[in-house]
Amino acid sequence: MTNKPKVFIKTFGCQMNVNDSEYIIGQLVKLGYSITEDISKSNLILLNTCCVRAKVEQKIYSLIGKIKKIKENNPNVILGICGCMAQKEKENIFERAPYVDFIFSPSQVNNLEEIINAIRYGNKKYISCENTPEFSFNHVPVKRESKISAWIQIMRGCNNYCSYCVVPYTRGPEQSRGVSEILSEVNNLAQNKYKEMFLLGQNVNSYGNDLSQSATFSKLLELLNNINGIERIRFTTSHPKDFSFDLIKTIKSCNKICNHIHLPIQSGSNKILKMMNRKYDIDYYKNIIKEIRNNIDNIAITTDVMVGFPGETEDDFMDTLRAFKEIEFDEAYTFIYSNRVNAIASLLPDQVPLKLKKERLWRLIELQKDISTKINKKLEGMIVGVLVDKKSKKNIANQFSGRTGTNKTVVFTSKQDLLGELVKVKIIKSSPWTLYGELIE
Ligand code: SAM
Ligand code: SF4
Repeated sequence: MTNKPKVFIKTFGCQMNVNDSEYIIGQLVKLGYSITEDISKSNLILLNTCCVRAKVEQKIYSLIGKIKKIKENNPNVILGICGCMAQKEKENIFERAPYVDFIFSPSQVNNLEEIINAIRYGNKKYISCENTPEFSFNHVPVKRESKISAWIQIMRGCNNYCSYCVVPYTRGPEQSRGVSEILSEVNNLAQNKYKEMFLLGQNVNSYGNDLSQSATFSKLLELLNNINGIERIRFTTSHPKDFSFDLIKTIKSCNKICNHIHLPIQSGSNKILKMMNRKYDIDYYKNIIKEIRNNIDNIAITTDVMVGFPGETEDDFMDTLRAFKEIEFDEAYTFIYSNRVNAIASLLPDQVPLKLKKERLWRLIELQKDISTKINKKLEGMIVGVLVDKKSKKNIANQFSGRTGTNKTVVFTSKQDLLGELVKVKIIKSSPWTLYGELIE
């Protein structure tokens, strides 16, 4: 009996990349590969990359450099680079690292069989970075990491061209998957006992704008809400400009949609928002938050924010701090602005020095920590519904964790294996990032 070839895959970046890797692995398993976590034992090494910030890109190039030694020791090992950095860098990767064997873009993820065969039998460098005319995962095998919660990409690409962002250049224009394809996938997952659907898109609430049939994000949510067996529906990332009142009504009326909305603010300064090409001002943003909170009970709101965009003065940064104090997000993903070659903000004057960017980041993180502490403290003594999705990482006996509908992590103990169950937990203690509780029998 021959040994199965082994693939080592490392994924960088967002949930979309994680889901792309699930499709990549599904196809490789079908082609006879098994997965290894030991890079030195692999026959195929795949890096699924990200390039949103310069630092990640440098880290990936440095990893590619380290893999050179593995290839020198064993020239039969195949090295492939995919994901956003592959699309952005294309042939530059071959120039910097001539030992890389193949490169493919996110839109070519479901063409892996063709790509691997070209490399196995063609004995030449291979690059596949064309955008495809439609977005579909029909009949593409997938090997999901979780048996409880499933990522579902409902659309890909972005038409927004925020001035700092490379995504429209790496993931191409917005393309929505057909409604019937998504419904059939979710029905299938429900039959396989999945409890939670996590809908993904760079701009998830503009779903359907490019489809000829009259499909909207709200309509899709309503259809998914009717699928038996599914208990929770989540989605990310919403753009404020597409957050309609109709969507707020849908979230309120669909019992399976979780009460958590992730709505990137990016900055609290109107001047910076304009330069970012975000297509809203701060009053518009605050008004959406007000409508959401007035209409949906117990809703958690989280955000993405950036400090140090070119031209950001102390006053602009103070506007961001003020917006944070006023809105009180449950949690914020905070980023230091990073210059990206394709994005036009890299051409702007008045780049903010790194030291100042770091100072601003820490001030913002400290403020958000106080806000999250205050919000989570109020949950002490309350009973919350938790979908249990993990056993303790630290191997603490009987410790489990899961998430509330508001997407907060709750840690508790149980003698019974509760993975995949929806349970009630009483919150005993809180921190800015985690809640600790006792299972209610
Ligand atoms: N589509 C989503 C949106 O509209 O916000 C998010 C996609 S983006 C990959 C995730 C986050 O990365 C953004 O919300 C932004 O805060 C951050 N980001 C994007 N480009 C960046 C850059 N050049 N420097 C720093 N952070 C960046
Ligand atoms: Fe990037 Fe803006 Fe598109 Fe989000 S909406 S992916 S930040 S261009």
